[in-house]
Amino acid sequence: MGIQLFKASFDVEACLVQVRECLEKGWTGMGFKTVEFEEAWKKYTGHKYAYYINSNTAGLYMAVDTLKEFYGWEDGDEVISTPLTFISTNHAISKSNLRAVFADVDDTLCLAPKSVEEHITDKTRAVIFVGFGGNTGNFKKIVKLCKDYGLKLILDAAHMSGTRYKDGGCPGTDGDADITVYSFQAVKNLPTGDSGVICTDSAKLDEIFRKKAWLGISKDTYTRTVDKGGTYKWKYDVEYIGDKYNGNAIMAGIALAQLPYLDRDNAYRRTLAQWYTEVFSKYPEQIGLVKISSDCVSSRHLFQIFVKDRDGLMMYLNSNEVYPGVHYVANTDYCMYDYAKGTCPKADFVSKHVISLPMHMGVTFEDVQYITRLVVKYVMEIRSGESYKE
Ligand SMILES: *Cc1c(COP(=O)(O)O)cnc(C)c1O
Repeated sequence: MGIQLFKASFDVEACLVQVRECLEKGWTGMGFKTVEFEEAWKKYTGHKYAYYINSNTAGLYMAVDTLKEFYGWEDGDEVISTPLTFISTNHAISKSNLRAVFADVDDTLCLAPKSVEEHITDKTRAVIFVGFGGNTGNFKKIVKLCKDYGLKLILDAAHMSGTRYKDGGCPGTDGDADITVYSFQAVKNLPTGDSGVICTDSAKLDEIFRKKAWLGISKDTYTRTVDKGGTYKWKYDVEYIGDKYNGNAIMAGIALAQLPYLDRDNAYRRTLAQWYTEVFSKYPEQIGLVKISSDCVSSRHLFQIFVKDRDGLMMYLNSNEVYPGVHYVANTDYCMYDYAKGTCPKADFVSKHVISLPMHMGVTFEDVQYITRLVVKYVMEIRSGESYKE
């Protein structure tokens, strides 16, 4: 089996209780558990509105599309984003016929405020910030920048379920982001099968999301089904060319069963990160670490290091049954976005040298000792202690 990068862990019995309830009730679609989860998520995070959807990708697509329409942006207007992300983030911009403009990252691997500011033009309409690995990076500075320049701000919080500031607040709340989108995909910190949630402080935006995610129809099926008279349940209007992005009760049931474990799991992730860090911090020349912002209690979706020969280390670990990952290849290396290739040197460095080490509930202290021993042996002996820096 070896040690995998990710492995979801579930309270199987609690999940089955939730799923059974859906099956016995005869309601597996939108509504019921999805509404229950939305309430639970609002309470957990402090977001004013939350709409449960079938993925974070759907949420990002809808976020950009809705803002474009709502504020009357033109095709070709610009949204500043990061090259270091899963491709969904940047596709959300392109999908709406807007142009992704890439700013560079800083030592937190999140967008660098200075680089973002340098990329603002009279066509810039918004910024998408990715809380990389659960890190808040310099998000507060980006919030201020967006307010100063009158830009909209979308927070891609796919890695951030459970991330908080030290004062307890969740990033994106209190008007910091216009829209925050979480992922509950199978390997994220709150795993379901596939789902996510789109959050905002704006009642108007929330209302639009609920229509757009359901073909543009202005009433959801559950409301119509429980409509007491029932006489007019076939009557609805269609206001948009919508999509089919809604979440369903089965997934929401699993999310409800898992939510009570999120803080506990994230605390264990932080412990794993600390165990890794204790060993690697002895080799500052050979092993680079990601800077976690001082005001951030990170969900620690990822634990990453930089080494000189990342691909070599990857093969060496694989041959010892450890299976790390890479987050991410700079999106500007893909042909879709290569118009910006080479414009973000820090992101390019990360793309070449970063490796994500196993991070999940099944990784033990002994596993971390085993993995760190292998990494140290590789960089100190096999690669003779060469520096990771360029
Ligand atoms: C996983 C991920 C997404 C996409 O989430 P889905 O729920 O799988 O659509 C978007 N952005 C980032 C940064 C991610 O890691």
